[in-house]
Amino acid sequence: MPAMPKRFKRVIEDFVCFNCGTEIKGGGYTDHCPNCLWGLHVDNNPGDRASKCKGRLKPVGAAYDGFGYMIEYECLKCGAKKRFGASENDNEELLISLVERSGAV
Ligand SMILES: [Zn+2]
Ligand SMILES: [Zn+2]
Repeated sequence: MPAMPKRFKRVIEDFVCFNCGTEIKGGGYTDHCPNCLWGLHVDNNPGDRASKCKGRLKPVGAAYDGFGYMIEYECLKCGAKKRFGASENDNEELLISLVERSGAV
């Protein structure tokens, strides 16, 4: 197996979803899986990657705010509540079911 070419450290990272195994290409704003919508508690503020928690963020609800979906999360490790904006290639069926679950239409 050839050695991996040396690469510059990238802020944008590709990762494999711990929950559903989807390979995710980092787009700079990728803080959750577009397929199952689960995320990781890596940020204190969106995008800063400053959290030491690294717990799994369960999508517990969503709301449509007129511009896009906001997904509500609860961290399974520390219990923190988070909100992320959905990205355009997120699983819309799942988003809609989350909106229905959270009761905000
Ligand atoms: Zn996933
Ligand atoms: Zn956490």
